[in-house]
Amino acid sequence: MINKLDAVLENIELAKQSSPFHEEIKLIAVSKIVSEIEIKELYAQSQISFGENKVQDLKQKSENLKDLSIDWHFIGRLQTNKINQLLSLNPSLIHSCSSLELAIEIDKRATNKPNILLQINSAHEKSKAGVFPQDAIEIYKNIKSCCKNINLCGVMSIGAHSDNEKDIQKSFEITRDIYENVKLYGAIWCSMGMSSDYQIAIKCGSNMIRVGSALF
Ligand SMILES: *Cc1c(COP(=O)(O)O)cnc(C)c1O
Repeated sequence: MINKLDAVLENIELAKQSSPFHEEIKLIAVSKIVSEIEIKELYAQSQISFGENKVQDLKQKSENLKDLSIDWHFIGRLQTNKINQLLSLNPSLIHSCSSLELAIEIDKRATNKPNILLQINSAHEKSKAGVFPQDAIEIYKNIKSCCKNINLCGVMSIGAHSDNEKDIQKSFEITRDIYENVKLYGAIWCSMGMSSDYQIAIKCGSNMIRVGSALF
């Protein structure tokens, strides 16, 4: 039986080959649904980047696994009252800054230039956080100019919630387009693609995917 990590890595290679974008893909293993045991197992297979969506879980898991050189990512909704705690954990990237206001709140509290992505709600879904595509470039530039204590370095999006592959693709293309526009302002990451749609995301130009259930 082929293991799950190998299967995902192989699918990434296949998607890259049929993609017009020649990006290296960074895989974030989303460990929110598993315990430290499964994280250790995957780490032993050379997976070093992991993502959590709750500040409390990130704190607990990163403390319990502090002997491993894990590269921790925060991918969840961020409440203002949890910002200090999140920053104290020093994640390598916060994927989910969903507004100018939140960026300003993070900026007020940041001391060591955290890396942050602007979340785009590319399919205009009520259930999702993030800025709308038509506002994204302006907001990106505003954050860049008014938040000097954070390092805004790209965009993040969750694919459209749909059974129609075309809708999902469209939502990724919208995010990729914004990413191309904000490269001028230092963007280097386009974080999009999850277990059900990471191959589509890669073909649309993602360079960072967040995969959970397919790995565990
Ligand atoms: C849970 C989650 C993922 C991973 O989802 P899977 O479907 O398990 O791959 C990726 N990104 C975000 C923001 C998530 O909350």
